Amino acid sequence: MDLLRASIADIGQQLRKKQISSLEITQYFLQRIAAHNSKINAFVTSNDNAEREASDVDQKLARGELLGPLSGIPVGIKDMLCTKGIRTTAASHILKNFVPPYDATVVSRLKRSGAVILGKLNQDEFAMGSSNENSIFGATKNPWNLDFVPGGSSGGSAAAQASRLCAATIGTDTGGSIRQPASFCNVVGVKPTYGRVSRFGVIAYASSLDQAGPIASCVEDAALILEVISGFDQFDSTTSNQKVPEFSKNLNKNIKGLRIGLMKEYMMGGLHPDVEKTIALAVEDLKRMGCEIVEVSVPLTAQAVPMYYLIAASEASSNLSRYDGVKYGHRASFENLSKTSLEEFYMRTRGQGFGVEVKRRIMLGTYCLSSGYYDAYYKKACQVRRLMAEQFQNCFNSCDLILGPVSTAPAFRIGEKLSDPLSMYLNDVFTVSANLAGVPGLSIPYGISIDNLPIGIQLMANHFDEQKMLNVGYALQETSPMTWRIPNV
Ligand code: GLN
Repeated sequence: MDLLRASIADIGQQLRKKQISSLEITQYFLQRIAAHNSKINAFVTSNDNAEREASDVDQKLARGELLGPLSGIPVGIKDMLCTKGIRTTAASHILKNFVPPYDATVVSRLKRSGAVILGKLNQDEFAMGSSNENSIFGATKNPWNLDFVPGGSSGGSAAAQASRLCAATIGTDTGGSIRQPASFCNVVGVKPTYGRVSRFGVIAYASSLDQAGPIASCVEDAALILEVISGFDQFDSTTSNQKVPEFSKNLNKNIKGLRIGLMKEYMMGGLHPDVEKTIALAVEDLKRMGCEIVEVSVPLTAQAVPMYYLIAASEASSNLSRYDGVKYGHRASFENLSKTSLEEFYMRTRGQGFGVEVKRRIMLGTYCLSSGYYDAYYKKACQVRRLMAEQFQNCFNSCDLILGPVSTAPAFRIGEKLSDPLSMYLNDVFTVSANLAGVPGLSIPYGISIDNLPIGIQLMANHFDEQKMLNVGYALQETSPMTWRIPNV
């Protein structure tokens, strides 16, 4: 069977028919990693036990033990999620040698379903970035053109998936980090509703925005993974006890009569012409499938990027205060340290441990949270956030889903925006709103630029309405010229 173009369900079927073993599937992907990872720099840590764990799955299958829908499926995990016994760094020097004693809930649910963890994937340090250039492991390359970024912060996940170094991956999305790299690399990414997926064991960046989700080859695979990882978790009090639908079984291409909102503020010009063309193509295809296109508006979109960077940096500065060199992670040497100065020790540890972008955000966030400024900045941003969430609700009163771009332009060159953080931040204008409003977002491949770089489109749904979003994605996957296109690596 052609594992390169097989869905997870296809692989599962072959496995149950005993036409292929879990060990063979794992070895196939391990060979692809050995052949291609050095060019792309997606995997940063491998699971040395992957083959043994695959054999365990085979033995269980042979004994007729009940296994979940991901049995024998090799997956890669963003280095932001804790993996028991496998180094987890968040791509930061400060966690360089951290080996977690437990699995994130997402990881334990994948394992319970039978998945085999192949290893950990590159990312921006603490998920802060849009290009995967802020990593102690060096930049991940876009497999469509190695001079370009794969997007970020889940750049390793998207690049590994695009070049089929594994059958599926997990990323995290605080302001677009699943959807934007999925768009840049021609794969499918889902940012679930806030509260749909447990954050337990996901290294905290901005807790009110963070969600983990799948980056996969096709909508069916993303739906299947989402149903495995979703649902209430006693270890994360922000998870919802809303019932988790069988997303993959319920997929339905009949989307006739759905109202698709085109957001006025997203189509106001300034888009790369190839992105504009890609959206226009999707609109035509949706109309042909019987959808009605309506205009919707979220006037506060203009404030989304400043609001996001204020809230994200504030929460990050609080979350990252735990890295003090005392409990775990990097610890600075005591050499020449005045015995009494604990503060000096913290400063030395954190000065050495964090990269430039992380420090920038800790400083911004600390400022926004400091007394005298809290009300003017953090509190104000939270109030505006609430208003923006209401504007989204208004949209969903008049449409089922919102269609828009993922990013203003296709992938940019490595190094191009590194010295200009503001232009990097502005790039997130279409993705941060879903996180601020807590609604789910999907990125699917739909176009290609004149320079042969992929372009995704984004669908957003109301809270917990992932099924509708996946259904429209599933229907669009049939008409997309980019479905299942794989780069030559
Ligand atoms: N690019 C955004 C940032 O740098 C989003 C990152 C993310 O979603 N983790 O914060």
